[in-house]
Amino acid sequence: MAKIELKEIAHAYGVNPKKPTDYALKRIHNVWQDGGAYALLGPSGCGKTTLLNVISGLLTPSQGQVLFDDKDVTGLAPEKRNIAQVFQFPVLYDTMSVFNNLAFPLRNRGFNEADVRSRVTEVADILDLTPFLAKRAAGLAADAKQKISLGRGIVRRDVAAILFDEPLTVIDPNLKWELRCKLKEIHEQLKLTFVYVTHDQVEALTFADQVIVMYEGQIVQIGTPQELFENPSHTFVGYFIGSPGMNFLPITLDAQSARVGDAAIFLGENLAGLAAKAKGDLKLGIRPLYLEVHDTAVDKGVRARIKSVDDQGSFKILTAILGDHLLCARIPEGHPIPQQEVWLKFPIDWIRLFSNDLLLT
Ligand code: ATP
Repeated sequence: MAKIELKEIAHAYGVNPKKPTDYALKRIHNVWQDGGAYALLGPSGCGKTTLLNVISGLLTPSQGQVLFDDKDVTGLAPEKRNIAQVFQFPVLYDTMSVFNNLAFPLRNRGFNEADVRSRVTEVADILDLTPFLAKRAAGLAADAKQKISLGRGIVRRDVAAILFDEPLTVIDPNLKWELRCKLKEIHEQLKLTFVYVTHDQVEALTFADQVIVMYEGQIVQIGTPQELFENPSHTFVGYFIGSPGMNFLPITLDAQSARVGDAAIFLGENLAGLAAKAKGDLKLGIRPLYLEVHDTAVDKGVRARIKSVDDQGSFKILTAILGDHLLCARIPEGHPIPQQEVWLKFPIDWIRLFSNDLLLT
């Protein structure tokens, strides 16, 4: 397994890139630890696949270097990098048996048959593929095929990293959860370096120890699911993580309060102090989970009109209008829902302030 270091990586697909928008990757400078489970998360077009291809060697970056365990591999072809890849669609030999598919990478490298048998048996056991070993791969369901793709990677003990590009796309929704749990279990068991590309936050947050959030060709934050939820370093992370995402209100500072139109949201001394030092456009952020909803006036509450209430099963999402802005609040099941107006309270501990979209700390 390898530590992956990305040194000043930038990539433009066109020739003569000049402006920042000409770059699919703007500036990526990071170290990913040996044995870590990383998810690359971001919306379509943010550069996830481009970055994965730079790591695998399918793409040579316009600028910068890729290092595996301090060794520069930027100029090496994928087959020389000792990585395994699992793509959206399983890559395997349909006419071969599951056993022969798993054995292929080992036989290709000249392993003797006794070693091949022992290693294939071990990996089939880890992946719950033992009952299928003699079957032809062609007849299996997509989730079993994807496990074979993964098995062809982990069957080699010396693999530097396993790169996954949206591996659950073709898997039935009810099997996705199972396969994701299996991947997590394998990671914990084998301590391999996993890099997993997805635009699905649930996949990223349940799979990875560290989630790397990308936006417009850049990494905007790397953190645990909890860090991304509680302290998004950029408004994009706040908006992208969580369902619905963080609420944001443009504010001006008024003594120890944040002013939104006629409403004053109490910030207290510390937050007001942070806001006073900030230079750019100020925004207040709060997660729907932490926005308190009251049906009568409360101390330090602000009055808002109700726009809608959506029942999500075990909870409801209330959308309220404050001045010109919409705010969502998550209301637990059984909690009474006011009819037309509400008083919203912003607990100080859960208010986050942003200046020019960056978290104030
Ligand atoms: P998705 O989730 O849709 O796959 P992504 O985050 O993986 O998106 P990339 O596929 O890396 O994003 O694309 C990043 C940017 O580079 C996009 O603007 C895309 O249009 C552009 N791009 C990707 N591949 C090429 C290519 N072969 N030639 C030119 N531009 C490309």
